[in-house]
Amino acid sequence: MTVRTKQQTYLNYINGQWVPSASGKTEASLNPANIDDIVGYVQESGVEDVNVAVEAARRAQAAWRKLSGPKRGEYLFRAADVLKKRLDEIAETMTREMGKTLPEAKGEVQRGVNILRYYAGEGMRSIGEVIPSTDSEALMFTTRVPLGVVGVITPWNFPVAIPIWKIAPAIVYGNTVVFKPAQETAVTAAKIVECFDEAGLPAGVVNLVTGKGSVIGNAIAEHPHIHGITFTGSNEVGKTIAQKAVARGAKYQLEMGGKNPVIVLEDADLDRAVEATISGGLRSTGQKCTATSRVFVQRTVYDQFKEKLLAKVKQLNIGNGLEDGVWMGPCASQKQLETVLSYIQKGIEEGATLVYGGQRLTDGERAKGFYVQPTIFENVSPDMTIAREEIFGPVLALIKVDSLEEALSLANDTPFGLSASIFTQNIGKMLAFIQDIEAGLVRINEESAGVELQAPFGGMKQSSSHSREQGRAAIEFFTAMKTVLVKG
Ligand code: NDP
Repeated sequence: MTVRTKQQTYLNYINGQWVPSASGKTEASLNPANIDDIVGYVQESGVEDVNVAVEAARRAQAAWRKLSGPKRGEYLFRAADVLKKRLDEIAETMTREMGKTLPEAKGEVQRGVNILRYYAGEGMRSIGEVIPSTDSEALMFTTRVPLGVVGVITPWNFPVAIPIWKIAPAIVYGNTVVFKPAQETAVTAAKIVECFDEAGLPAGVVNLVTGKGSVIGNAIAEHPHIHGITFTGSNEVGKTIAQKAVARGAKYQLEMGGKNPVIVLEDADLDRAVEATISGGLRSTGQKCTATSRVFVQRTVYDQFKEKLLAKVKQLNIGNGLEDGVWMGPCASQKQLETVLSYIQKGIEEGATLVYGGQRLTDGERAKGFYVQPTIFENVSPDMTIAREEIFGPVLALIKVDSLEEALSLANDTPFGLSASIFTQNIGKMLAFIQDIEAGLVRINEESAGVELQAPFGGMKQSSSHSREQGRAAIEFFTAMKTVLVKG
């Protein structure tokens, strides 16, 4: 594998200028497939940098909100074109920075292009409705206005798609943005912002500040001039952001973890169910909030399902995501690898049976990266840690059930409620699942992971703050509604 020797330093982007952080401190962004490979250096900003960015976003607000929706949409169309032009390069950066395979990274950048185009079009769609007034001489209608300055705090697992599905609706509805990406993928984030810059977005509309979440993410959550915060990441951090937002009356939107089940019933197409369990649970090294984690299989087909699953999992090629034919890359960071290994250890200690995997991979080139085997447990009881907490790694827990009712009851026995899937041919069972499963994303004969940008996305229970992102649903968070009555 080529190791780059000349690394670029990436700056903050504030008021249309690329600027160093006030402290001048930088941090290396490493390749989790090969820690000798430094992807770039990024700014380690402080509270003062956030303050300057918020001020720039505030100043830009007045003119930006006055532009028409279609005009704002034009900037998004241009940004989409630039991102499309740079698709291969940005996908490669993503793979080097967080480890997912190159085909997955390319798919994600293309999704970013599509999201930009979708929200560009959104600039031309309706922002209100006429409501009949009891006064026949009055016109009553709703309209929507931007919140003002929005703080965008994002994780490393989808370093292009998640920032874009927050920034694009934020700005098309007239907000300006202070964007704080995960420090682990800050180079990729800088490249997204370069696309907005190259698209000619007016100064101050999107501002990038990189650095530690505990410092600058916290500063965004507490800043009195940030009117809305949209966050994706862990439940722990999400809850602290919510508390800070509530304390000062700011709007907030949280997308957090999952412990997503798949239910495989005895009439299921087992080959499809196996494919979907592998793809949903192990792709992107299990680092998706919608990843399959718990696999409930009806007892009558359990052995057959397990055998087919194991046969396929054993064949997966694990390596550097830049290489052809690699199916699964490393964990995104050393911290993530350690978390996954500690959950595997807990699974063993608490009495689950390790059926496959469980080890860090350190042979050959893999010694330089954060690789772990895909891992399968069985005899997992519902009270075990691996059945309850989000692992965010390639670990599947197989659980035998006697009936759909039992599967539903166990599947719902979790604080999370993001995504869930079932494999069955029986329409009655599908309908019961749709009705009774506690999940924001319900999938029938399809894997738990996978979202479409034009449809609402979000979870029930502790997986989200009960709002929805993407599609037209985004308008609910990024705008405030006015009800207007006009009398001549
Ligand atoms: P975090 O929730 O810590 O990080 C998400 C974002 O929040 C990052 O930009 C981070 O900054 C920022 N952040 C961290 N602390 C604060 C704070 N006090 N105030 C404001 N912002 C903050 O997730 P991790 O990356 O540490 O991952 C931990 C676990 O979270 C994973 O194992 C997984 O279970 C879950 N997770 C879920 C995701 C999802 O898609 N739902 C995505 C990522 C993680 P920085 O990291 O740069 O310091």
